[in-house]
Amino acid sequence: MNYNKKTVKDIDVAGKKVLLRCDFNVPQDKATGAITDDKRIVAALPTIRYLLEQKAAVIACSHLGKPKEGPDPKLSLAPVAKRLSELLGQDVIMAADVVGPDAAAKAAALQPGQIMLLENTRFEKGETKNDPELARKMASMAEIYVSDAFGAVHRAHASTAGVAAYLPAVSGFLIQKELEIMGGALANPKRPLVAILGGSKVSSKIGVINNLLDIADTIIIGGGMSYTFAKAMGAGVGKSLLEADWLDYCKEMMQKAKDKGVKLLLPVDGLAATEFSADAQAHLVDGVDIPGGMMGMDIGPKTIALYTDAVKDAGTVIWNGPMGVFEFPAFAEGTRAIAKALAETDAITIVGGGDSAAAVAQLGYADKMTHISTGGGASLEFLEGKELPGVACLLDK
Ligand code: ADP
Ligand code: MG
Repeated sequence: MNYNKKTVKDIDVAGKKVLLRCDFNVPQDKATGAITDDKRIVAALPTIRYLLEQKAAVIACSHLGKPKEGPDPKLSLAPVAKRLSELLGQDVIMAADVVGPDAAAKAAALQPGQIMLLENTRFEKGETKNDPELARKMASMAEIYVSDAFGAVHRAHASTAGVAAYLPAVSGFLIQKELEIMGGALANPKRPLVAILGGSKVSSKIGVINNLLDIADTIIIGGGMSYTFAKAMGAGVGKSLLEADWLDYCKEMMQKAKDKGVKLLLPVDGLAATEFSADAQAHLVDGVDIPGGMMGMDIGPKTIALYTDAVKDAGTVIWNGPMGVFEFPAFAEGTRAIAKALAETDAITIVGGGDSAAAVAQLGYADKMTHISTGGGASLEFLEGKELPGVACLLDK
């Protein structure tokens, strides 16, 4: 995967019509439709402002939610246009369709320094099928394609990848940062590279574990997935989260770590509970065996000491997956301690994954990390080393 892609700064946009793919998939109040968190709109502002200052005519587009049967007024981007207009302090012209007569007429009339927003790209059925005809129609309104929707780069849709077949395609500042920092850490990391992997299931992280075993110097395992590893080593896991189908895989990964000389750290103690609930009593388990009738909920103090120590002299730390059930305060300490250790290390610190990003924000360490990836599924596929269609389609530097 080549992460060295042209950006908006590598192409002359002045006086040009620019199709800008944003991630405006914002959460909305179910009853009123009001935007409950405008973070994604705010995140898009630097690229939009740059394009407008350069006197491009910006045709923004995005998907919102999952419309099933074509246009759905509840999933219109009109509220996003309104909020974007407030944030920019200038009019945002809203199109009534994606590639229909209204969009085409408004795009044709759009002047340098103006911005318009197409309707929800998923109102067109061809969007998720990456229909070349839809992509061609979208592209025909513009002269340059800029992608800044990192959260959607793992999808080969018409607006995230297809249009690049018809227009010179470059990244906006959001994707540029993801490629520079995360791409840099994977392709040419400042060593030692420590990967901390947790979360619920081994099965959802197989690609990540496998890819990082090829790159990292140390791999730290915590969270629900650690019990399948523990079981594979012969430990008792009680009622802990266990994926019996993945025991052999865990054994393979432990062997791979040995063969490659990668240090693989597993929990040496933990907090367990008799039931999965917020007010469950935490029992300290000193050792790797979780007693029958109990489930592992968090890493314990000795494990915290072992893991935070491994992070201290790291050059780069990549973290995906909470160390315990951090949503329950009694089992958030492991995740908090790791977040704190990352906040205090001089290493480049990268957090990927939806729940991991939420945990770091909830625990108050978000501004202490070098980079928190903005895409949930996209950042996981990035860490898997997979080719991302929305990145691969951009022009190489
Ligand atoms: P991400 O979204 O960052 O990739 P995951 O979705 O893989 O992370 O995992 C997050 C979830 O893992 C959290 O909801 C957390 O409660 C859960 N989890 C962590 N440790 C445990 C555990 N010991 N038992 C059950 N669930 C766990
Ligand atoms: Mg998750």
